[in-house]
Amino acid sequence: MDRILAFGVHPDDVEYAAGGTLALLRDKGFEIHVASLAGGEVGHPTLPAQQIRERRLAENQRAAALVGGTFHFGGCHDLEVQYDCEHRRRAVRIMREVDPLIVLTLPPMDYLLDHEEGSKLVRNAAYIASVPNYDCGVPTKPTGRFPYLYYWNASRCRDIFGRPLPLHMAVNVTSVIELKRKMIECHESQFEWLKHHNKWEDFGAVTLQDSREQGKLIGADYAEGFIQHLGNGHPTDNILKTLLGDLCVEFPDRPVIPENRRKFV
Ligand SMILES: [Zn+2]
Repeated sequence: MDRILAFGVHPDDVEYAAGGTLALLRDKGFEIHVASLAGGEVGHPTLPAQQIRERRLAENQRAAALVGGTFHFGGCHDLEVQYDCEHRRRAVRIMREVDPLIVLTLPPMDYLLDHEEGSKLVRNAAYIASVPNYDCGVPTKPTGRFPYLYYWNASRCRDIFGRPLPLHMAVNVTSVIELKRKMIECHESQFEWLKHHNKWEDFGAVTLQDSREQGKLIGADYAEGFIQHLGNGHPTDNILKTLLGDLCVEFPDRPVIPENRRKFV
């Protein structure tokens, strides 16, 4: 059974943006892995950091389990995620441990720098995990392939200038939206935190609202948008479309890479 790795920087990133797509891929027989680089230490108005970290990691583990997923923690800290050696090594450890066929991760532009740095770290890990001489600080086996790499949509479906991201596709998650809601509801602490910090009455309702907004792009009730990494190295055919068929709707301006540009020459 091949593996999917959904890699965020905070517990709840994955479920908010890609929980439905993970559920659909689980139903196709894939082994699901969910990773969080940081521990969610700042995500509560009153609890001390260590206590909220333990609570959030447990929440993420429960959410991942709803799609039969294994949870991985990178050992980093909220609001301190940056593109440096230590973070690079930690991201590569997880990439090598899972050796995924497909990676889903944060978009390069999002509202929070942790997310943007996390996007770079996961993108880089997906590329360099196969480099034998890259030392990630613990004994690991290099991966033997470049995974398919996809970025999920930005938080609240807009970049820092208020624009929509140039999505390549959206996945219709209407059939699994109840499961996505249950995954988000595992993050009880974030209902408390976002009520306090963002003045959101109901984090679950916000999640569904954003999935509904993306659904409108493809005439579905609920969807999750993605951009595929089409740079040199990674496969450029759209495996999500191949696997999910009509549930994955490509947008007309998704670039198609000619066959002779797809491989190293
Ligand atoms: Zn986050």
